[in-house]
Amino acid sequence: MKKTVLVTGGAGFIGSHLCRFLLDKGFRVVCVDNFLTGSGRNITEFKGNSDFVFINHDVTKPIEIPEPVHYVLHFASPASPFDYAAFPIQTLKVGSLGTHNMLGLAKVKKAVFLLASTSEVYGDPLVHPQPESYWGNVNPIGPRGVYDEAKRFAEALTMAYHRVHKTDTKIARIFNTYGECMRKNDGRVVPAFITQALSGKPLTVFGDGSQTRSFCYVTDLVEGIYRLMLSKASEPINLGNPDEYTVLEFAGKILKLTGSGSKITFKPLPVDDPKTRCPDISKAKKLLNWQPKVSVDAGLKRTIEWFRHN
Ligand code: NAD
Ligand code: UDP
Repeated sequence: MKKTVLVTGGAGFIGSHLCRFLLDKGFRVVCVDNFLTGSGRNITEFKGNSDFVFINHDVTKPIEIPEPVHYVLHFASPASPFDYAAFPIQTLKVGSLGTHNMLGLAKVKKAVFLLASTSEVYGDPLVHPQPESYWGNVNPIGPRGVYDEAKRFAEALTMAYHRVHKTDTKIARIFNTYGECMRKNDGRVVPAFITQALSGKPLTVFGDGSQTRSFCYVTDLVEGIYRLMLSKASEPINLGNPDEYTVLEFAGKILKLTGSGSKITFKPLPVDDPKTRCPDISKAKKLLNWQPKVSVDAGLKRTIEWFRHN
């Protein structure tokens, strides 16, 4: 009998890639989403598949699923700094109430629960690269606090269910991930730079562009999530690509790969924008035998092609 995976946020960027991957692996997939930042377009290709069920539901409200569920992958949450600034209360609610509801569901179904956490739990990090043992440097009352603290609370609640109810839980601390199906205007650096470069508009570098990020292609991330979901690990595990660039270097890379003649323009740095970010992935290598395979150039080329045609 097929195992069933419930994916919250399944109509979003990462969620829709996860649904495709899991259907291909032979799972039944129940996708729960309220389209706050996701899109029906991301899941249209699965609609004729009898192993795919879509439920339009806000996970901050309780839900009953009238069939067995073996895994709950909780990916619902605004994820772009633009989105969580636009939906601060929804972000706090989906990280807290949404996580509580999904942990409750996992408990009653005796399912494995996996939380999509984030490198933002490290805030503006004072340790570099960031190992899972680092507790972070988060401003709870700044504009990013709604996301960072929601995810920190979600991690605490997940560990509490693990300890008290013995729920089989996993926590993925996901670092910047990019690829096909990101929203053009979600404000994140990859869709922003690619759409600007393809339309000949200036690339908007925030601050002086010396802040760093490391970029993981979505197929690598999804493979890491899958390995974590099947693993015995219950402590948080970083998933990301340690290949690190300054934002200014990254703008240059996008110009080169698109062949664009766009200029670069400098805009004010958003409040609390982390100065550095790079995952220490030793734990994922050791416990999951996982590391990214797709180089940033190869992943960006595929992503750029998708943006050209969508
Ligand atoms: P996304 O915005 O594309 O997807 C999020 C999905 O969640 C959307 O489809 C949205 O409609 C849905 N959603 C939001 N609130 C909901 C609610 N209350 N009920 C039901 N559905 C709801 O973002 P993404 O980049 O795919 O991120 C997915 C998850 O991965 C998020 O939890 C995010 O925090 C985490 N993450 C992503 C990254 C990244 O670089 N993409 C990095 C770290 C963590
Ligand atoms: N950034 C930028 N120009 C943009 C969008 C983002 O310079 O148009 C910068 C942003 O300030 C940050 C980095 O790119 O330093 C990554 O931003 P993103 O919104 O993708 O995600 P974050 O890593 O901040 O969560």
